[in-house]
Amino acid sequence: MREMRFLFKPMFESSSGFSQVYSNFSIHALNQRKMAMEVEKALAATPGGDTIFGKILRKEMPCNFIYEDDQCVAFHDINAQAPVHFLVIPRKPISQLSKAEDQDEALLGHLMNVAHKVAKKEGLKDGFRLVINDGKDGAQSVFHLHLHVLGGRQLQWPPG
Ligand code: AMP
Repeated sequence: MREMRFLFKPMFESSSGFSQVYSNFSIHALNQRKMAMEVEKALAATPGGDTIFGKILRKEMPCNFIYEDDQCVAFHDINAQAPVHFLVIPRKPISQLSKAEDQDEALLGHLMNVAHKVAKKEGLKDGFRLVINDGKDGAQSVFHLHLHVLGGRQLQWPPG
């Protein structure tokens, strides 16, 4: 607390300034913790085998598709990181982008095409971000290829 007083003395002198700093600190700490939990989840994930997205595609798990065709489906992320956050996944069980083959080129293009069309349908007129996490260092937690589409707020750069 003494250190915080020293660092933020001018703001500390007004009690509302201090609570603002304190609240920013807590939000930052909370976000850091949430990020750490996502990375922990990803590190615990094992590539290969069936995944939750396989279950969704086989209708063994309920899920509302916001788009579907013969090659892919899109649905909202259960743990949204932005006001709009949906996933586009191929029906073909490609475990991760780095395992895609040359014969998947058209499918990969199709996923991006669907991503921007669904983004428009979801009202992301001012832009959005497309993310593909790949493998351990990419913090991938579900080993069925998926594109994250995030938008509806100003996103920051660089990501963590
Ligand atoms: P990644 O960390 O890139 O592998 O992302 C996996 C994403 O799948 C995470 O953002 C999860 O929130 C999301 N997710 C996991 N299970 C479900 C589910 N049942 N429905 C929707 N999204 C899910």
